[in-house]
Amino acid sequence: MPLYKNDLEAITSAVRRFVDERLIPAEAHVAEADAIDPAIVEGMRDLGLFGLSVPEEFGGLGLTMEEEVLVMFELGRASPAFRSLAATNVGIGSQGISIDGTPDQKTKYLPRIATGELIGSFALTEPNVGSDAGAVQTRARREGDVYVLNGTKRFITNAPRAGVFTVMARTDAGKPGASGVSAFIVEAGTPGLSIGKPEVKMGQKGSHVADVIFDECRVPAENIIGGIEGRGFHTAMKVLDRGRLGIAAACTGFAERILDESVDYAAGRKQFGKAIAEYQLIQAMIADSRTEALASRAMVLETARAKDAGRDVGIEASCCKLFASEMVGRVADRNVQIHGGAGYIADYPAERHYRDVRLYRIYEGTSEIQRLKIGRDTIRARAR
Ligand SMILES: Cc1cc2nc3c(=O)[nH]c(=O)nc-3n(C[C@H](O)[C@H](O)[C@H](O)COP(=O)(O)OP(=O)(O)OC[C@H]3O[C@@H](n4cnc5c(N)ncnc54)[C@H](O)[C@@H]3O)c2cc1C
Repeated sequence: MPLYKNDLEAITSAVRRFVDERLIPAEAHVAEADAIDPAIVEGMRDLGLFGLSVPEEFGGLGLTMEEEVLVMFELGRASPAFRSLAATNVGIGSQGISIDGTPDQKTKYLPRIATGELIGSFALTEPNVGSDAGAVQTRARREGDVYVLNGTKRFITNAPRAGVFTVMARTDAGKPGASGVSAFIVEAGTPGLSIGKPEVKMGQKGSHVADVIFDECRVPAENIIGGIEGRGFHTAMKVLDRGRLGIAAACTGFAERILDESVDYAAGRKQFGKAIAEYQLIQAMIADSRTEALASRAMVLETARAKDAGRDVGIEASCCKLFASEMVGRVADRNVQIHGGAGYIADYPAERHYRDVRLYRIYEGTSEIQRLKIGRDTIRARAR
């Protein structure tokens, strides 16, 4: 049943039910098959999960940041592979167009992104361009009413199933930094665009990444986001706050779910004649996980509310992404420890969670890049 924004409680409880009844039971199969069943994708579409942030006038739910993180706390409880499928549609795959797109771009793409009919991918990283994202080497050469793109994008989430890509390419070879970069909407199937072989990953099976290769790929000039050259990086930065908060919320939800599993296992496993949950060294691990998950939830909610109130939350969003992604790693690690040998065995979800959460510290800005940004911007703000 489709959901409507005016009843947030109905949305979060429907997502919670969907996660408990459909997603969590399917996790082991998704990991084994390295694919998400089409019926589950259909269920995610019906719930509106692809259009959480797309404005209502374009067919999405148009959630505020606070509302979005409340939904992400729930969706994040399931394997990150599910979130990954919808995340680019909710985040940078749609937000660049929502915030800076021309009216025609919004009308053409957002309704199909919101329903999940069109999967959006965000293509920034390249073989030689990772953390130093402003150093984009992919070129876009203007020829009349088209741009000709050449270059390779690496590790692009959902590339094999994407219908549309937001591609960062250098339009001004004379400007080596971020100001020479523009954002393009490139449709899958455009001649000159090809997709590499999906990578074999450590975890998050069921979500796929691959190279996106541009070889004399001709893109209509009207597909430059906002219609103006040199604004691509600026657009990307504006939507990153939202993306980082979304990831932090998903990490929080997953940590809470993993903690439940730690408690359940500790209550059921007996050693020395008692449930291991009765031992204070086990309780200490549970206490640390509980405390950190609560801190993460509070940070994310506070920052989301500040963003909705119109405040610049660039530093806070990075703090949330840094803390929550590191926190869920510690929670997953303690969960393995509480499971003992079983935590190392693939029959138990603990082993899969441990691998799945590792990525959160790497993509959409590594922990080091978040620290650099938080430190630099905090010092700058104090100097003002
Ligand atoms: C599964 C997966 C999905 C992804 N999805 C996408 C996607 O959809 N779209 C996309 O564009 N990209 C995507 N990425 C790419 C991801 O965002 C990058 O991998 C990430 O930003 C890091 O870049 P890098 O791998 O080149 O590492 P590098 O930048 O080479 O960094 C290597 C190490 O050096 C550290 N480092 C770098 N610079 C500094 C510095 N100045 N000071 C201190 N330490 C530093 C980093 O923190 C890291 O520890 C994905 C990656 C993966 C693995």
